[in-house]
Amino acid sequence: MQIKKADFVISNTDYKRCPKPDKPEYAFIGRSNVGKSSLINMLTGQSSLAKTSSRPGKTQLINHFLINETWYLVDLPGYGWASVGKEKRDSFSIMIKDYLLYRENLLCTFALIDIRHEMQNNDAEFMQWLGENGVPFVIIFTKADKLSQPQIQSQVAQYKRKMAHLWEEMPQYFVTSAVEHKGKTEILNLIQQTNLLKLS
Ligand code: GDP
Repeated sequence: MQIKKADFVISNTDYKRCPKPDKPEYAFIGRSNVGKSSLINMLTGQSSLAKTSSRPGKTQLINHFLINETWYLVDLPGYGWASVGKEKRDSFSIMIKDYLLYRENLLCTFALIDIRHEMQNNDAEFMQWLGENGVPFVIIFTKADKLSQPQIQSQVAQYKRKMAHLWEEMPQYFVTSAVEHKGKTEILNLIQQTNLLKLS
């Protein structure tokens, strides 16, 4: 699939005010600075659709983009900034969890992980929560250009070992780089196939 059209639709703090759930939807989430905006921009081929920024907790909204007029791409707030106060963290967390639990047209959530780091507690907790609540997700490892191929393999293997404690098998995953445009085709193919299944 090629993304020919990507339009910003609306930003919300409440899933109930999101667009009518009449199209397949895919959400992207990860710790702040994981490379989510860069990945979304790579996927859509637009250099500034999602705002890249190192400012902590900047995107605190559920952002809907309509892609090729057929499906929604959702940019969810980044999590994991210590500098954001507890009260604010709790309200993000409720907003995100309600969205993930109750957004009826959400077909898959992409959980982004910086491939350079060991599994972080908040990533592990988040993925466990997704699993326990039956929210389908796929892992996207980001920033693969920062590691060599053997290092990538070793990081993925480490993840697989750790995930084996939580899951019978490693969830589906993609290794990506926004800098090298790596993983774009694979992610868009998955979305296209899921859309076809849904719409057929
Ligand atoms: P977000 O906070 O998750 O939306 O992350 P951004 O997309 O704003 O990226 C955070 C930082 O990581 C920025 O300095 C980006 O330039 C950098 N970055 C994002 N993706 C990649 C990537 O694939 N490779 C490299 N080398 N840097 C990246």
